[in-house]
Amino acid sequence: MGSVVISLDAELGWGFHDLPEPPIERVESGRRGWKSMLELLDEFDVPATWAVVGHLMLEDCDADHAEYPAPDGWFDRERTDWADRKDLRFGRDLVRDILESDVAHEFASHSFSHVLFGRPETDRELAIAELERSRELAAEWDRSIDSFIYPRNSIGHRDVLAEYGITAYRGSSPTRDGVRGVFDSTIRDRSMLVTPTVDEYGLVDVPASMFLFGFEGPARTVAESIWEDPMVVLARRGIDEAARTDGLFHMWLHPNNLTHQRDDRRMRAILSHLERKRSETDLTVETMTEIAGRVTEPTMGERATARWG
Ligand SMILES: [Zn+2]
Ligand SMILES: [Zn+2]
Repeated sequence: MGSVVISLDAELGWGFHDLPEPPIERVESGRRGWKSMLELLDEFDVPATWAVVGHLMLEDCDADHAEYPAPDGWFDRERTDWADRKDLRFGRDLVRDILESDVAHEFASHSFSHVLFGRPETDRELAIAELERSRELAAEWDRSIDSFIYPRNSIGHRDVLAEYGITAYRGSSPTRDGVRGVFDSTIRDRSMLVTPTVDEYGLVDVPASMFLFGFEGPARTVAESIWEDPMVVLARRGIDEAARTDGLFHMWLHPNNLTHQRDDRRMRAILSHLERKRSETDLTVETMTEIAGRVTEPTMGERATARWG
């Protein structure tokens, strides 16, 4: 049985708050893209893994976070440029929309304040604080956190994840992003499928197959004018490959990647292809936690040994 996973890094302003020049279009598209993705996933009945930045679930904050073990200045933007931009710093309405959706989305974590875990200056204390705060907020919302998506895919402190009860994280993709990825999979015919593995902490690494918005800017415009959207072509290949085999195809994106209608069209084209394949084959759509459950579940043989051996 082939399987498809879609994961989303849901962050509003938090994906960019540490950048000297946040990309305005992306920043301003966070809410729009979030709603568009929820509507599309609802229309095509596709459950996704939504990794949410914990700070978005706060009612309010002092923009100071003085007790928080982050480097000086980490929350500066909340006090300066974005002091009046609560729409970028909080998103309880949007988180509620995920939880109340008719589709059984997975609620996952994208840390508390988008700390980059793989950076050497991110110490264990900060990693713990990010998990601790996220878990507290989830509990306030009657949720647990089973899957974690590292901000900017910067992997680190996996032992802390394991300590905080996480079972799965999104690992890095074996496929290159953007134009190179298109080359690898179309010209070199490289597989788009990934294999989840269990790491030394017992966490399941569910690697990404492809980032759906790695082919942007002028190259995209040219490609679309002479051909069709290369990312749709690639996603279709991945979906078909998963349907043909019993492999896993894992796509990911940020809601804020949907900056224009043409981005909505890309997602609609991919989701309608997925819908077709689901109806024609026994292809399934799963969440990261469901994948982890399958990977760690003892095999029939092991169960028999545990029981009888
Ligand atoms: Zn704050
Ligand atoms: Zn992010």
